[in-house]
Amino acid sequence: MVDARQVAYLQALGVDVYVPRTAPPLQDEVAAELAAPALPAGSSPTPGAVARAEVSASGPNDASNLDWDELRAAVAACRRCDLHATRTQTVFGVGNRQARWMFIGEAPGAEEDKQGEPFVGRAGQLLTSMIRALGLRREDVFIANVLKCRPPDNRDPRPGEAASCRGYLERQVALVNPTLVIAVGRIAAQNLLATETPIAKLRGKVHSFGAQAWPVVVTYHPAYLLRSPGEKRKSWQDLLHARQLFGRLEQESARGGRT
Ligand code: SF4
Repeated sequence: MVDARQVAYLQALGVDVYVPRTAPPLQDEVAAELAAPALPAGSSPTPGAVARAEVSASGPNDASNLDWDELRAAVAACRRCDLHATRTQTVFGVGNRQARWMFIGEAPGAEEDKQGEPFVGRAGQLLTSMIRALGLRREDVFIANVLKCRPPDNRDPRPGEAASCRGYLERQVALVNPTLVIAVGRIAAQNLLATETPIAKLRGKVHSFGAQAWPVVVTYHPAYLLRSPGEKRKSWQDLLHARQLFGRLEQESARGGRT
């Protein structure tokens, strides 16, 4: 069942939904929220975490023992690939560290590089609408990218760059320990799942990522949806699939005791 608020966000997404005559008008409220400023990118790491991160950054990219502060500091100091030379700043990720939902995109763009936060600008607003359509707030989920630094001219990440950065993402997912990961867009999905399968064939299925085989579903990148609004209905199908799967996973976890 889709409630009135979700209907309003679906309409903001551009998806046509039947609205009962008695449904309260939420469009103005939704529009105001979509225009709201982005969330802060997060706190700075402590000096101790920076020192520990500098030590760990000189070895192999095994971030599996780092805590949140150490991980953030390791990313901020990272020079493992050439992207460090052209970034304004690293874009670590943002959101609830105990989130049940994790959204993973490709890499920072120009605006993200400037603000230090993933998914800002128009694509970020559309991602926020997608999150709202799930009945969640942006601050309920954790949002990160495969790469923490912007590739110049928004080119696709190179395999070596993604490999260099992967340890950070794996540690982020392990620390959050989400019920479900949403891979946002082709590049994120193909990197997370280590495949070259087209996104159309990855959608609608349940995949897994990382040491604990966290469940992953795939949907289109909001930047692509802005260019191809006709695909928004498919993205709603993906969100419905994700929501049903999430409910099932939470039930199974409750029966088995969540770790
Ligand atoms: S993209 Fe990742 S691996 Fe490359 S410099 Fe940035 S943080 Fe380091």
